[in-house]
Amino acid sequence: MRTISILGATGSVGASTLDLVRRNPNQWRVTALTANDRVDELAALAREFSARLAVVADEACLPALRAALAGSGVEAAGGARALCDASAMGADVTVAAIVGCAGLGPVMAAIEQGGTIALANKEALVSAGEVMTAAVARHGATLLPVDSEHNAIFQCLAGGRIEDVRRITLTASGGPFRTWDAARLATATPAQAVAHPNWDMGAKISVDSATMMNKGLEFIEAHHLFPVGLDRIAIVVHPQSVIHSMVEYRDGSTLAQLGPSDMRVPIASCLAWPGRMETPMPSLDLAAIGSLTFEAPDEGRFPATRLAREAAAAGGAAPAVLNAANEVAVAAFLAGKIAFTRIAVIVEQALSRMVPASAPASLADVLAVDREARARTQEMLELT
Ligand code: NAD
Ligand code: MG
Repeated sequence: MRTISILGATGSVGASTLDLVRRNPNQWRVTALTANDRVDELAALAREFSARLAVVADEACLPALRAALAGSGVEAAGGARALCDASAMGADVTVAAIVGCAGLGPVMAAIEQGGTIALANKEALVSAGEVMTAAVARHGATLLPVDSEHNAIFQCLAGGRIEDVRRITLTASGGPFRTWDAARLATATPAQAVAHPNWDMGAKISVDSATMMNKGLEFIEAHHLFPVGLDRIAIVVHPQSVIHSMVEYRDGSTLAQLGPSDMRVPIASCLAWPGRMETPMPSLDLAAIGSLTFEAPDEGRFPATRLAREAAAAGGAAPAVLNAANEVAVAAFLAGKIAFTRIAVIVEQALSRMVPASAPASLADVLAVDREARARTQEMLELT
């Protein structure tokens, strides 16, 4: 029996994780579950899995959570501090599946316990890459990548040594607008952007997939998880999402990880690591799939991967500004306030105007950069 905490339990990755736990009731005990403000869903999950603790990030929701959990034996808590406390409860595995930089504090709290973190929350690593990887080393924590591409790379790296890597290739589905021309892209609606052809995901990451910023964030994420140098990380568009990423070694061998486009596969790989566990996934039927195709990314129509590469190369606070501006711009797009194609324009403006000269040296520094960049991006949106 191992213990598990899930930060962001009511989201898409949270649900996939709980599905695996539900299928293996004798292997897992749930320590803590958290959500932003979906009290009823959180309370139902906490009751179903007999969690020790349920936390709502939005403190105003705490009375409702308490009421919903009355008599269940599940403790209720609320607020940012409680989120970090939940994360630091020392579960055998903490699944970090909060969306956005809001997950940064809780991820660091788990790292500081020297725990094992199954990391889905890529924005945390993008904003605080150096600070986070240094903390992982200092506290002897274990970071297992949930993001399907990074999980694929992690698996392929079992086949060789990182110093023998010639190139890492991240695959990208290309998103729902892969074949759209520039004029049509300007008309894309939130409903069209969240309808991903291959993956069923939360709204923010779905928009990121449509702009290709998701691949940009993943490029930075890969750079921190697998330090082979920025020039050795490539991106290729692979619309079928069967190959989840590849590692090429210096002898010319390329290892790839293949599987269905279902997050339960990479999550299971983290939960069972270094072993394997049963999942309900059918075997891959390559004859039925027929062909796997590849194309170069088009940074003319989708500038986000260029912006991310530039932010990664600049280093320091640039990736945190890129991420903050993107979060604000994506929220504005989802709220119907800006056109789809303005997301990348806003991120580019933020990168050219808002990056402070000094590199963040601590979690507090990263959060300060994040707050400032968010506020200034918001101002920029209101002025135009
Ligand atoms: P989602 O929107 O479905 O769920 C997000 C979860 O975070 C919810 O439980 C929500 O309550 C919680 N949350 C939201 N805002 C919060 C806040 N301010 N404070 C505390 N909690 C908050 O998102 P998702 O698709 O599950 O993605 C979660 C993370 O995993 C993201 O970082 C995403 O990039 C990454 N990821 C997701 C997928 C996927 O297939 N969905 C794949 C790879 C990586
Ligand atoms: Mg991914």
